[in-house]
Amino acid sequence: MFLAMSCGGQSYDLVIKNGLIVDGTGEPAYTGDIAIRGNRIVEIGNVKDSRAAETIDVSGLIVAPGFIDVHTHCDRGIKRVPTVDNYILQGVTTVIGGNCGGHPFPLAELYRDLEKEGISINFGCLIGHNTIRREVMEYKMEAPTKEEMTEMKSLIDQEMRAGGLGFSTGLSYLPGIYSETEELVELASIIAPYDGIYASHIRDQALLITEAIEEAIEVGEKNGLTVQISHIKLADDSVWGEIERITKPVEDAKARGVKVFLDQYPYTATSSGFTSSFPSWAFEGGRDQFLERIKKPGIYKKIKTYIIERRLASTKGINKLETVFIANSRNYGEYEGKNLQDILLSRGLEPTVENGADLIIEIEKNGGASCVFFQMDEKDVEDLMKLPYTMHGSDGSVQEIGRGVPHPRNYGTFPRVISHYVREKGVLSLEEAVRKMTSLPADVFKLKNRGKLKEGMYADICIFDLENFKDKATFSDPHQYSEGLAYVIVNGEFAVKNNTHTNRRSGMILYGSGKEQGE
Ligand SMILES: [Zn+2]
Repeated sequence: MFLAMSCGGQSYDLVIKNGLIVDGTGEPAYTGDIAIRGNRIVEIGNVKDSRAAETIDVSGLIVAPGFIDVHTHCDRGIKRVPTVDNYILQGVTTVIGGNCGGHPFPLAELYRDLEKEGISINFGCLIGHNTIRREVMEYKMEAPTKEEMTEMKSLIDQEMRAGGLGFSTGLSYLPGIYSETEELVELASIIAPYDGIYASHIRDQALLITEAIEEAIEVGEKNGLTVQISHIKLADDSVWGEIERITKPVEDAKARGVKVFLDQYPYTATSSGFTSSFPSWAFEGGRDQFLERIKKPGIYKKIKTYIIERRLASTKGINKLETVFIANSRNYGEYEGKNLQDILLSRGLEPTVENGADLIIEIEKNGGASCVFFQMDEKDVEDLMKLPYTMHGSDGSVQEIGRGVPHPRNYGTFPRVISHYVREKGVLSLEEAVRKMTSLPADVFKLKNRGKLKEGMYADICIFDLENFKDKATFSDPHQYSEGLAYVIVNGEFAVKNNTHTNRRSGMILYGSGKEQGE
């Protein structure tokens, strides 16, 4: 079938010779060549025809599908940094944004701008419940009226027709935290005809995690949707070591035929703002009302007690003040990279949980901060990683070098899995780790013709040196790209050559099936 092509001169645009191919399926690696024409892989194995516009010899290197990160917030910042350097330079060729209940509204506008300017990475997006609810109900704490429900459903439909891949919730964030399961079940029904996925940042990741997972499963099961539990973790020392709080509800649902998957970032620290350390009612009605509320001493005290219990207490005698770091803050730049204990001491205050809670309220009052919280156990991270239905995902967003002190997962997630969990600790085999970064996420999120090295697939490829592929980003010095990455190819074009970003913009928007129905 390639005869006709070879008459016109060069048969291939690029041939990758002698790589150790890890094809994304989990099958054992094998040595072979890959030929690319246009944006597709056209031949694989022993490619004899060498009439290629370009040939690279990658002897000794691993050739894998480009990594797919289904849990990102890259919708934030992709317009500003369309080269998405912090993902491309991990070997990631596809990112999905709109997670945890937030997406840029209206999605069609973002997609139009990105198509016009071009992006270096493939990008798809979920539709965020918090975004939709805020649009219709602002920060109302009660259940939606019939009219509000109708309006929310029509907006979700509009966004799915713009090409959204599914529906995401962020149930520990505002205003999603005010919603009941019933509301979620009804709203999620809108995405079923578009074959969308339901991805949830669940309500609780500690003592109530089982109930929270069951709620997510209920939303999916009642609508026939695949369920993705976001950034899975046992996020409090009170539940460390109790992985069956997660596996039991997931495996029970699987036994009933529900498709349930997890994603995880390979670190023991989380990252978010302080708002989730507050009781949800503190923000009812919006920010101005929060500022009014904390002026009342009785309410202030209630909030303070909640923060101490929720964020600063430990059942294992851990000093939590040392585990909370300020990553980024507009009004407290001098605290970036410091933990609460250091900050209190620098102010000449006793490092007590009471003073810690006062500090958290003060920072939130004056514009807030994004933070890093060390709250997981390494053994749990490894046990969750080993589950065959867990995939790797960063929970990061597009970064600019030197800006703030973000979580290192933004720069290091994928190389860290390979270097730390495959090479150093042997938690996963290379083939299994690559499967969890490629074909598994592509299948679950229904990304067509991606995630495997096979003939006919898009040529999204990551080539690295197994011995030297390594994340360099740390909590104190996160703005560092990985080492050991040789090439990244996005839709047949080099995004990285010799560990350097080429600034090419060959990425595509990955539209959901609603797009055709929307036009
Ligand atoms: Zn989240």
